[in-house]
Amino acid sequence: MKVTFWGVRGSIATGGSAFAGFGGNTTCLEVEHGPDRIIVDAGTGIRALGVKLVSEHASLPIPPMRPLEASLLFTHLHWDHVQGFPFFAPAFRPETELRLYGPVDEDGVSLEDVLLRQMQTPTFPVPLKAMAATMSFHSLNSGREFSVGSIDVTVRSLNHPQGCLGFRFEAGGRSLCFATDTEHREDGSIDDALLDLGRNVDLLIHDAQYTDDEYSRRVGWGHSSYAGAARIAKGCGARSLVLFHHDPAHDDAFLQRMENDARGLFPWCLAAREGLSVEV
Ligand SMILES: [Zn+2]
Ligand SMILES: [Zn+2]
Repeated sequence: MKVTFWGVRGSIATGGSAFAGFGGNTTCLEVEHGPDRIIVDAGTGIRALGVKLVSEHASLPIPPMRPLEASLLFTHLHWDHVQGFPFFAPAFRPETELRLYGPVDEDGVSLEDVLLRQMQTPTFPVPLKAMAATMSFHSLNSGREFSVGSIDVTVRSLNHPQGCLGFRFEAGGRSLCFATDTEHREDGSIDDALLDLGRNVDLLIHDAQYTDDEYSRRVGWGHSSYAGAARIAKGCGARSLVLFHHDPAHDDAFLQRMENDARGLFPWCLAAREGLSVEV
């Protein structure tokens, strides 16, 4: 499996030269195994991924014309995980077939509702129905297990305001856990759902928005410290750890220090960088 980071920032996209090293776009991951591809979340990082997918598809020999297929999984419906969707170029093309998987919130609001609402006037000029792709919506909930081609997906709930889903991906005997937007437990224990996802995983990508000092002032906000992420990686028996969902206030120098400190706690560890691909 290969995972590529198209957006690594949490909360809101961030610009400026001091942030260019790690990147300013919000959450979007691409997970590939052979011809199979899963996109996770549609933060602002999905715009550049969409440009790549359209360009790759345009370079395919014709005929026969294959559809541009993609499966998009959404962890939750917070802005920083959905706001890039109106700029996802493949969604405007009739040759595209999108399968969209997302949670339904406690008030019954679905992924489709959220994508519809964020493309309404007066806050956006182009409605969802102007997207020419064939789209099918599928609801996701904790406990669900399914496959996208050769990639097996396990879904569990994480600890986050309004909820968030974590994913374990398995293919070709390798495993990858994506657990963003989740708050570690202060007593160091790990909840069963996260253990299910992360047990002996080859790569754990985990929320690490804060330092311990920052976390102490933001308990209940739904995010972890990098020390909390390192404890969870150890507790799960993960082989490697990627720190994810960088705070918009943390510039490259700050994130480099965080990465160095985190390596003292869990040696095979790096902070996610936009554009980075990791073979799992
Ligand atoms: Zn987030
Ligand atoms: Zn969130």
